[in-house]
Amino acid sequence: MFADDDPRVSQLLEGIVRLASGDLNSRIEVSPARDELDAIIMGTNLLAEDLQIIYEELEQRVEVRTKLLHEAHLEMQKMAMEDPLTGLANRAALLTALESARSDGVGEAPVILLLDLDAFKSINDTQGHTAGDQVLITVAERLRGAVRASDVVARLGGDEFAIVMPATGADQAAIVGQRILAALKEPIELPDQSIRCGASIGLSVGDAGQGPEEMLMQADVAMYASKAEGQNRLHVFEPGLLLIRRLRTQLVDDLRSALKGEGLVLNYQPVVELATGRVEGVEALIRWNHPTRGRIMPDEFIPLAEEAGLISELGRWVLTTAVEQLRRWVDDDAVDSTFSVRVNISATDLQSLRFIEDVREVLKETGVRPEQVVLELTEVAIVKGNELDRYSLAGLRGLGVGIEIDDFGTGYSSISYLRRLPVDRVKVDRSLIVGLGTDPSQPALVAAVLQLVRACGLEAVWEGVETAEQAEHLRNLGCLSAQGYFFSKPLPAEDIPGLVKAAFPVRNVGT
Ligand code: C2E
Ligand code: MG
Ligand code: MG
Repeated sequence: MFADDDPRVSQLLEGIVRLASGDLNSRIEVSPARDELDAIIMGTNLLAEDLQIIYEELEQRVEVRTKLLHEAHLEMQKMAMEDPLTGLANRAALLTALESARSDGVGEAPVILLLDLDAFKSINDTQGHTAGDQVLITVAERLRGAVRASDVVARLGGDEFAIVMPATGADQAAIVGQRILAALKEPIELPDQSIRCGASIGLSVGDAGQGPEEMLMQADVAMYASKAEGQNRLHVFEPGLLLIRRLRTQLVDDLRSALKGEGLVLNYQPVVELATGRVEGVEALIRWNHPTRGRIMPDEFIPLAEEAGLISELGRWVLTTAVEQLRRWVDDDAVDSTFSVRVNISATDLQSLRFIEDVREVLKETGVRPEQVVLELTEVAIVKGNELDRYSLAGLRGLGVGIEIDDFGTGYSSISYLRRLPVDRVKVDRSLIVGLGTDPSQPALVAAVLQLVRACGLEAVWEGVETAEQAEHLRNLGCLSAQGYFFSKPLPAEDIPGLVKAAFPVRNVGT
C-alpha cells in the first residue's frame, strides 16, 4: 500500500480531474517506485490514451457526417433552385435572383426577358417527349451561350424560359433578346432530323417599387404581345398592353360562352360552275355576333380560339352545324345530291384523331353522302404537317369526304407533294387572280397554275372573283369553278335555296 501523504495521490487526483475536465492530452507522471500506485497511474494513463483515441475517432466521424450533411443540404438547395432537365435555375431561383438584383440598389434596375417557344407543343406532340426534352436542353444551352455569366437563366416550366439581367439597360437587353432569337433560328439537330423552334420574347424593365412577381407578370404580358404578332418577335412591356390583354381575356371568355350558347353563325358563300352558272356548292364561313361588339370576323377570333385551346370545340361546332344544314337543304329538295358543303378545318383539327371520329359520327347521324362534304385545309397546315397529319388525311379520305387545299399559291407545296397528298382539289388563293382583266400578264400565270394543278391529277376552284372580267377570263382559260363577291357574298343559310334555284347568268364578255 502507499502512504496517505504520498504526493502521487494528489497528483493522481489532479490528473483525473484534468482528464475529466476534457484535457485528454494530459498524462500523470509515473514514479521510479513502480509500485501499486504507479500501476494505477499507468492504468489511468492507458485509459486516458484509449479515451483520447476514441474521442479523436468520434471527432473525425462527426466531421465527416457534418460534411455529408452540408453537401446534402447544398444538393437539396440546388434541387430546390434548379430545373432538373436543363440544369438551369428554376422559378424559385429566378424570383430570388430578381429580388436580389432589385435590392442591390446599384446602377440600373434589372431587366427580365421571358421567352416562350413557338412550336414546342407540336414538336412534343408529334416527335415524342424524348425529342421534346432534347429541344429544351438545346434551347437552354443556346440561352446560356447568349448571355453573360452573371445573368440568371431559368426554365419556368414547360417551354417557358426567363433571363434576369442585373443592372442592364432596356436597349442592351433588347440586343441580347435579338441575339437569342437569332440563335434559336438555327436548326436543332435531333438523331434523325433537324427541326426549327422559334420563340416569342417579352421584356420588362424593373423599377424601384416593383416586386419580382409583378416584373414577371409584365414580361409575360409583353411576351403575349409578341406571340400575337407571329413568331420570333420581341416586345417591351408598356402599360397599354395590360388593357389589350384584359380585352383578350374577356373575348376568350365570351367566345367560350358563345360556343355553349348563342352568337356563332355560319354564312354560306356559293361556289359556281363557270360554264353554266349553276351553284355547285357552298363554303361555310363562321361569324360571331358578339353581344356588345357586334359582328366579329373569323380572321379576328380563329387565332384567339387557337391560342385559348378552343379551336377543336369550334371546329366540331362548325362541322356539325354545316352538315346538319346540308341535311335540311337535301330534305327540303333545295339542293341535289351533287351539291357540296365546304368546311374549313384548322391545322389543330387535322392533328386530332378525335376529329376523324367527329366526321364519322356526324355523317352517320345525319346520313348525308360523304361526297357532299368537302374539308378545306390550308396549304400551310398540310405542308408543315407530319406523318400523323398524313395519316389523318388518309383516314378522312377513307370516310369518303372530299379534301381540298385552301389558299393554294400562298404556301410552299411542291409538285411532288401535290401528287402524293390524298386531296381532290385546290382552292386557288385570290391573290393569284387580282390582276385578271387589268394586268396583261396575269392570264398566262393563271393558265400555268391550272396546267400545273391538272398535271398533278387535281382540279382547281378559283377564289375571290370580284368582277365579271375575272369570271370571264377564268372561264375562257378553261377553269371550272369559282367563288367570290362577284357571284355572292357569304349569306345566311335561308338565302341559299333561292340562289341555287336561280343560278347565275352566264355572260360572255370579250366574245
Ligand atoms: P378562306 O377559307 O380562304 O375563306 C375565304 C375568305 O375570303 C372569306 O373570308 C370570304 O368571305 C372571303 N371572300 C370570298 N369572296 C371574296 C372576294 O371576292 N373578295 C374578297 N376580298 N374576299 C372574298 P372570311 O369569311 O372572313 O374568312 C376568312 C378566313 O377565316 C377563311 O379564309 C378561313 O381560313 C377562316 N375561316 C372562316 N370560317 C372558318 C371556320 O369555320 N373554321 C375555320 N377553322 N376557319 C374559318
Ligand atoms: Mg376556305
Ligand atoms: Mg381561301
